Amino acid sequence: MSKPMIPYGRHLVEDDDVAAVVEVLRGDWLTTGPAVDRFESQFAAYVGAGHGVAVSNGTAALHLAVLAAGIGPGDEVIVAAMTFAASANCVRYAGGTVVFADVRPDTLTIDTAHVASLITPRTKAIVAVDYAGLPCDLDELMAICDRHHLLLIEDACHAPGAEYRGRPVGSIAHLTAFSLHPVKHMTTGEGGVVTSNDERLAGRVRLLRNHGITSDHRQREQQGTWRYDMVELGFNYRLPDVLCALGSSQLKKLPGWLARRRAVAARYHEQLRDVASLTLPAEPSDRRHAWHLYPVRFDPADNGAARLKWYGALRAAGIGVNVHYLPVYLLSYYQSLGYPQGLCPVAEAAYHGLISLPMWHGISDAQHEQVLAVIAKELA
Ligand SMILES: *Cc1c(COP(=O)(O)O)cnc(C)c1O
Repeated sequence: MSKPMIPYGRHLVEDDDVAAVVEVLRGDWLTTGPAVDRFESQFAAYVGAGHGVAVSNGTAALHLAVLAAGIGPGDEVIVAAMTFAASANCVRYAGGTVVFADVRPDTLTIDTAHVASLITPRTKAIVAVDYAGLPCDLDELMAICDRHHLLLIEDACHAPGAEYRGRPVGSIAHLTAFSLHPVKHMTTGEGGVVTSNDERLAGRVRLLRNHGITSDHRQREQQGTWRYDMVELGFNYRLPDVLCALGSSQLKKLPGWLARRRAVAARYHEQLRDVASLTLPAEPSDRRHAWHLYPVRFDPADNGAARLKWYGALRAAGIGVNVHYLPVYLLSYYQSLGYPQGLCPVAEAAYHGLISLPMWHGISDAQHEQVLAVIAKELA
């Protein structure tokens, strides 16, 4: 029998999480009950936001953020090119036009100078991504938004618990989207949260999550009425009570898990900092990384040869490495919309050198040392 793979990321579900789910499962509300409200207020408090709305996944969080921002056909939204497809797809769902912005060569987060150069009278919003868990340049982006009357939607699916200039991610942008997918920092199986300090924006997300209907089943039950109204065409993007109970249980452990991720990152750094051929992920001193990923970069001049060699060697040794990301506009769907190759040269060059090493909160010291031993052999 071959040894089980060490994945690049993984969830951790413990006995207390299971117990929290079972308790709700035996109760009166499987969906839209008290566990939803509880989880939403706990999550919002954790990220320092006025409001939190739990939704069915991170993509739904982005979709509703874009709709709350009022994006529709004819509107342009500037989106970071170095990200998962969902950061751009949400704009397409709403009929908007995606304008891809390049990333900073040091952090691979959205390049604010490039963003400023892309603004037109049709620009309505920016989707900035906290790539790998590092907050993007939020003050500069908010200043651009103020100047041009735009909304900042932060895709923080990599970054719950990250901090920017002393403030938690989730409390800064107009709307922030989080994912609770198993590969992320904490999970509900599928799930997501939108946070905002703006009551009106949060209210729109809440309304659109439940079909555009102005009351939910539990509220009508409590009020003793059957009558409801639907004021807009919304969706069923609810996160069930059962899963919110899992969310509350996982959230309690997030600070400890973030500390574990930091320790794993520090160990990689210690082992790899003197390797001249590698660029390690940066953590500027004014922000705190959440370490969703640990992506290292080879010099892209070899068109990905060094990266491919590592990928093969680590995979053969049972270590699940991955690549984050091919710039979104190089995916076939976006190519079919006519985005040219070479649009964002920094993101494209980085892509050829990138490889994400295993990074998750449940990795054991033994597993991590096994990864580091295979890397040492590659380096020798
Ligand atoms: C995971 C992720 C999403 C989508 O989240 P889901 O919960 O899988 O829908 C969006 N953006 C980024 C950057 C992600 O990593």
